[in-house]
Amino acid sequence: MAGSGFAAVDVIAAKRDRAVLTDAQIDWTIAAYTAGGFAEEQMSALLMAILLNGMTPGEIARWTAAMIGSGIRMDLSGVGRPTVDKHSTGGVGDKISLPLAPLVAACGAAVPQLSGRGLGHTGGTLDKMESIPGWTAVLPPDAMIRQLSEVGAVICAASADLAPADRKLYALRDVTATVESIPMIAASIMSKKIAEGTDALVLDVKVGSGAFMKSIDRAAELARTMVELGNAHGVRVSALLTNMSVPLGVAVGNAMEVAESVEILAGGGPADVVELTLALAGEMVALAGLDVDPARVLASGAAMDSWRAMVAAQGGNPDAALPAPRERQIVVAERAGVVSELDALKVGVASWRLGAGRARKEDQVQAAAGILCLAKPGDAVAVGQPIFELHTDTPERFADALADLAGALAISVAGDTVGRPDLIIDRIGA
Ligand code: URA
Repeated sequence: MAGSGFAAVDVIAAKRDRAVLTDAQIDWTIAAYTAGGFAEEQMSALLMAILLNGMTPGEIARWTAAMIGSGIRMDLSGVGRPTVDKHSTGGVGDKISLPLAPLVAACGAAVPQLSGRGLGHTGGTLDKMESIPGWTAVLPPDAMIRQLSEVGAVICAASADLAPADRKLYALRDVTATVESIPMIAASIMSKKIAEGTDALVLDVKVGSGAFMKSIDRAAELARTMVELGNAHGVRVSALLTNMSVPLGVAVGNAMEVAESVEILAGGGPADVVELTLALAGEMVALAGLDVDPARVLASGAAMDSWRAMVAAQGGNPDAALPAPRERQIVVAERAGVVSELDALKVGVASWRLGAGRARKEDQVQAAAGILCLAKPGDAVAVGQPIFELHTDTPERFADALADLAGALAISVAGDTVGRPDLIIDRIGA
């Protein structure tokens, strides 16, 4: 921007040459970019230099603070309960926020889940919730605070003035192959969560084929970076590193993930979804300072009551039938044996092709599209047994989805013993 004494090209050159950016350079860069004074092509070059050359902890902290300062910071002090949120770095079949928010609310905390829509192969919590007839993602801040006090849980869209720098940066990173930078992911997630005003935060950092982080070392580095950023801003943070080489649960797709979440709240559902929901709830109630056992609260039915109240408070009908697909197709096992692998990325991409996700921001998702994973690692299958059920409203999509699924599931010969991969890999934080 003219008159500031800074030039975008100097900031880019400094990062290209591995210099450490000064606080003033970072503050100016974020403010100028948010205001339109740092061009998209220049930010693209800077993002690639950051991806390739990294940032020091000091630069990441300042970049995050500047992103928080680009918008409003919410004040949840009037809610009257301890506030605690959860953020997942994104995965396939990851519907955990849906049962988790009402469960933690039923434990006595308030959960301000400001969520996003899916882009690419990972689903978005708002897309899932929007398959409930009548439910709206848009809540004015006063309605959100009232719902947090009265119901204890809100899942809604973040307002446009919360970390607006992230909104622009995330869209640009998505189209410049720079999403995978640890400093940028950490700053993106933590700027939104700190601006949201939560007292405490539990991070679910995904590792594996269906996650941004493919290795445990990189996931642990991301988790440590985010825990430190939160603590520096007075937010208590812990992180679980969890397996995303296999989709979570059976359902991958918007309405079918809502149905699976309701099964969890009713005391059933797939064991991995129950395990992760309870592990994250345990972390959240501990950070909120509550002495409650989430497993007992889930078994009591109180979390289901909170879910119904949360859905109804946002115009949804918790008793309405969820959308059903126009067409289904079954894939069967071609040989007998034990499932040894189920590739989360391939299932996520196939579900996206069926219409569960969007290729461009402005695309509509199909609520009923997706895939049921009917056999998971460790399960024995017979020849001809259904292993996937594909759902879509547009059957011309089946061929591409089936091509993506080729090789997604591996079967080892009968007699082999195949273990189920550990879901929770590590914990980081106080
Ligand atoms: N989720 C975010 O909000 N930001 C990222 O950069 C990655 C995942």
